[in-house]
Amino acid sequence: MFLIDAHCHINSDQLRADALNVVRRAGEVGVTRLLTVGAGLTTSAEAVELARLYATQGVYATVGVHPHDAKIVAGGLPESLLKLADAPRVAAIGETGLDYHYNHSPHDAQKKIFRLHIEWAVRVGKPLVIHVRDAMRDALEILQDAKPTEHKKKTPLMFHCYAGGLEYLSAMRDLDAYLSIGGPVTWPKNGELREVAARVPEDRLFCETDAPWLTPSPHRGKLNEPAHVRLVYEEIARARGISIQRLARAVDANAARFFGWEPLYAEPPRV
Ligand SMILES: [Zn+2]
Ligand SMILES: [Zn+2]
Repeated sequence: MFLIDAHCHINSDQLRADALNVVRRAGEVGVTRLLTVGAGLTTSAEAVELARLYATQGVYATVGVHPHDAKIVAGGLPESLLKLADAPRVAAIGETGLDYHYNHSPHDAQKKIFRLHIEWAVRVGKPLVIHVRDAMRDALEILQDAKPTEHKKKTPLMFHCYAGGLEYLSAMRDLDAYLSIGGPVTWPKNGELREVAARVPEDRLFCETDAPWLTPSPHRGKLNEPAHVRLVYEEIARARGISIQRLARAVDANAARFFGWEPLYAEPPRV
C-alpha cells in the first residue's frame, strides 16, 4: 500500500535530529511520500535540504512563512525565501494563512503575508498549502479577492488540518479546494471532524499528521511522526465506510493531480 503524509514537519526542532529514522519508520508502514513543510525562513531552507537528502524515501518540501511569523517578514517576503521555490522537490508554497487562535502576529501582518503567498504561488505555478485557525471568514475573503480565476486554474488550494467544520464545506467546494485531515479526526470527542471526513468529495481529500504536533489516538501525549498517518487513513476510511486501500488510491490520485506527480498506483480508484 502507498500512503502519503500530505503535511508534516520533519524539519522541526523535535524531529530534525532523528529525521532519517523518522522517515524510515514511515516507510515501514507504507508511507511512500511525505511533504515536509516550511514555516519560516530557516525551516523552509531545511525542508528543501531534507527533501534533497531523503529524495529516495519520497520526501518533498514546501516553502513559506507560517501566519505565526508574519510579523517577522512584515515588510515583504525576502528574496532568500522566494528563491527557494525554484529548488528541486519543492512541491508547493506554504504553509501560509491566518491564525487568530494564537494571534502570534497582528491580523494585518497575517493578511498581508497571506496575500503575498497567494501571488507568489500563482507566479511560480505551484499549489498553495493553507493554514487557517479561527479565521475562516477572513481567509475566504482574501482568497475570493485574489485573482480567483487564476488561482483556480493554476494554483490548487489545500486547507491543511482542515478545522472549518461542516459549516465551511460548501465554501470549500466553491473554491474547488482540497481538504487535508489530520490526527484530530481520531480523537474521541471529534465527531464533527469525522462527519467532515465522511463528506469531503473523494477527489478532494488528503491525509496528514502535522507531525510533531496533533498526535492521533492512541498515541496522544507523545510526539507525532509521519508513520502515524496510517491511523489517520484508518479513521477516515472507517468514517467513509471504505477500505484503507481504496482511500490510499484516492489520495494518490489526488496528489498526482494536485502536485503534478506521477501516480504511485497504476490505476485510480474505480467509482
Ligand atoms: Zn499549520
Ligand atoms: Zn504545519
